[in-house]
Amino acid sequence: MRDLTTLPKAHLHLHFTGSMRSATLVDLAQRYGIRLPAALLDGDPLRLPPTSRGWFRFQRLYDAARACVRSGDDMRRIVDEAAADDAAEGSGRLEIQVDPTSYAPFLGGITPAVELVLDAARESSARHGTEVAVIVAASRLRHPLDARTLARLAARYAGSGPGEVVGFGLSNDERRGDTDAFAHAFRIARDAGLASVPHGGELLGPSHVTEVVTALEPDRLGHGVRSGEDPALLDDLVSRGVALEVCPASNVSLGVYQDAADVPLRALVDAGATLALGADDPLLFGSRLVAQYETARHVHGFDDAALADLARSSVRASTAPAATRERLLAGIDRWLATPAG
Ligand SMILES: [Zn+2]
Repeated sequence: MRDLTTLPKAHLHLHFTGSMRSATLVDLAQRYGIRLPAALLDGDPLRLPPTSRGWFRFQRLYDAARACVRSGDDMRRIVDEAAADDAAEGSGRLEIQVDPTSYAPFLGGITPAVELVLDAARESSARHGTEVAVIVAASRLRHPLDARTLARLAARYAGSGPGEVVGFGLSNDERRGDTDAFAHAFRIARDAGLASVPHGGELLGPSHVTEVVTALEPDRLGHGVRSGEDPALLDDLVSRGVALEVCPASNVSLGVYQDAADVPLRALVDAGATLALGADDPLLFGSRLVAQYETARHVHGFDDAALADLARSSVRASTAPAATRERLLAGIDRWLATPAG
C-alpha cells in the first residue's frame, strides 16, 4: 500500500470556518473569552440525525466556531493553516469556500473581507506550495439579492490561479430557500467565467438535484451523492460532465448515511461519475482530506490504481490552470509507478 499523504490530489470541498484546526479554535476562544460548546471540544466527530433539528444543531455549532473569528489576522491564520494542512496531505490545489458576509462586520464590508481572503490565499500558496484558490459562497438562508451582490463581487476577482476567485457556491440547509431564486446570481457568476459549484444532493435526493441542475447549471455539485438514487439522473450528470464533491465523513456526521460503508462511492465511480473527495468541515466532522481517501481504501476496497483514479478525477474536476493539472497528474502517475511499500 502506498502512502496516501504523498498522492497528489485536489481538494475542492472545504469551508473556511470548518477547515479550522481544533487547537486554533480553542486558542481564539480563549483570546476572546468565549465559552465553546462541549461538542466542539470533545474531539469526537459529530453524529446528527438527517433532520432539520440535526441541521439546526450543526448550524449552532458552526456559528459558535465562526463567532471566534474576529479579525483579519484570525482569518489569515485560518487560510494559512488550511493551506499547510492540505500541503501535508498531498493536496496541490485547494479551492476553499467562504461566505464573506459573516466576516464583513469587523473588516468594514464584504469587499475587504474577500480581498483579505484572496491575499491570504496568495501568500499561503507561496508559503506552502499548495495553490489556494477561492470559492465565494452565498447562503440559502439569505435573500437572493444578497447572492447577486456576492456574485458581482466574486466576478471582479475571477481567475484560475492562487488568490483568485474560481467559483461561486450556494451553501446551508438544502431544504431552505427557493433554488430558482438564486439562478440570477449564478448567471452573473457564470458570465464572469466562474465555475458554478452549489451544494445539492446530500440532505435531499434526486428531485432536488434536478432543481439545482436546472436552475444553477453546476459544473460541480457540493456532495451530489444522492444523485445515485436515480440512475437516469446520474447518467445525465455524467453526460453533462457535472463532477461530484463527495465528502464521506460529512455524510455520516450529518446522518445521510448510517455508516461510511453506506456512502455509495463504488456505485458513483462505476456509473462513470467524476468524483472529488473532500473534507467539508474537518473541525466538526473530525477528519481531513486523506482520511476520505482512507475510507475509500479501507471501507470500500479501492486499490492503489483506483485511488490514483480518484485523485486524477479530483484534479480534472478542479478549476486549476492546465499547467497545474498536468503537474499534478504527472505526480499521480509517479506515485502509482513507485513500488508499493
Ligand atoms: Zn459543504
